[in-house]
Amino acid sequence: MKTLIESGILLTPTERIEGGWLLVDRDRIAAFGRGVPPAADRRIDAAGRYVAPGFIDLHAQGFRGYDLWDPSDEHFLAATRLMASTGVTAAMASVDATEEVCRVMRPRIGRAGGGARILGLYFESPFIAPDKRGAIPLDRVQPVSMELARGILKASEGLLAMITIAPERPGALDLVRLFRRASGPCGPVVVALGHTEATYDEAVAGLNAGMTHCTHLYNAMPPLHHRDPGAVGALLALPEVTVEIICDGVHLHPAVIRIAVACKGVARTCLITDCVSAATVPVVDGAPRLPDGTLAGSVLSMDRAVANVQRFGGVSLREAVEMATLTPARVVGMSGSKGSIAPGKDADIVLFDRDVNVSMTIVGGEVVWEGR
Ligand SMILES: [Zn+2]
Repeated sequence: MKTLIESGILLTPTERIEGGWLLVDRDRIAAFGRGVPPAADRRIDAAGRYVAPGFIDLHAQGFRGYDLWDPSDEHFLAATRLMASTGVTAAMASVDATEEVCRVMRPRIGRAGGGARILGLYFESPFIAPDKRGAIPLDRVQPVSMELARGILKASEGLLAMITIAPERPGALDLVRLFRRASGPCGPVVVALGHTEATYDEAVAGLNAGMTHCTHLYNAMPPLHHRDPGAVGALLALPEVTVEIICDGVHLHPAVIRIAVACKGVARTCLITDCVSAATVPVVDGAPRLPDGTLAGSVLSMDRAVANVQRFGGVSLREAVEMATLTPARVVGMSGSKGSIAPGKDADIVLFDRDVNVSMTIVGGEVVWEGR
């Protein structure tokens, strides 16, 4: 089965191709180009729309009333289908590091199920700073323990893709090395620095021990001070580490988004949503909040993040798309199969207009959502 998407504006890693075509053969991208398109079994007219790789949300907890960790498969699938309606073709599920959650999530990893495909698990606890836990309940924060860490790895059985650690906690660097040596569904487990009170030196020690990424830069960590730059200073100053940002207009001031993009570039700054179901936490002033005002995730969607970062971060549409596709794919070691329009890559495709209103989402060659 060959599907041709024609007459669109293709966004490839290096080009914007007006009047381009894209050929999908079963679940892979077969070819793309401009001019006379090849023959196909099915044709999709993308006239006036952008044709881009599907958005990859590395940090999602739930969406629009449904939790990804909900034991109900119906609720889980509802969340992934709603995510797909906003252009998400792949995501990491940010869930609690418990045996029960791992058991619920195991059969869901890697399957599309008519919506966004969940690639793996992202644990933000238990090895974080108690005072920077944000909305994570205190009983989910545990002392650093190699025994507990080994137990978490055993329970997740290769499903853990990313884990957040506060590197300043005593013994944390041994944990970083342990998790970094472990294999996840996309490659080595990504160890992210976050929910932390680390000083600059402690953050650098974490990066030297094997941390490669930062969980929601700026949020849940002390601010940068010019004589005490802290984790934020280390993350912005050191070139290799990648960061994720929440561009909902609530979590971050546009100026700090511009600073992140200026320091890291679009190749090392991911757009994430950190979206939650918001089924039980009220949304106040644009974001879910605990009664004391603490932000508890977001109600952001990836299509709005791509739209917002152009305005907030001063980037082009092509760069914004890269921050939602190729950059997150690189973070988790999946850029060989996802994150860009290239022959041989997974046919995860999204069509949208210039305001990033998504009109079609294709996961593994299957149209999973079609709108206006
Ligand atoms: Zn968090």
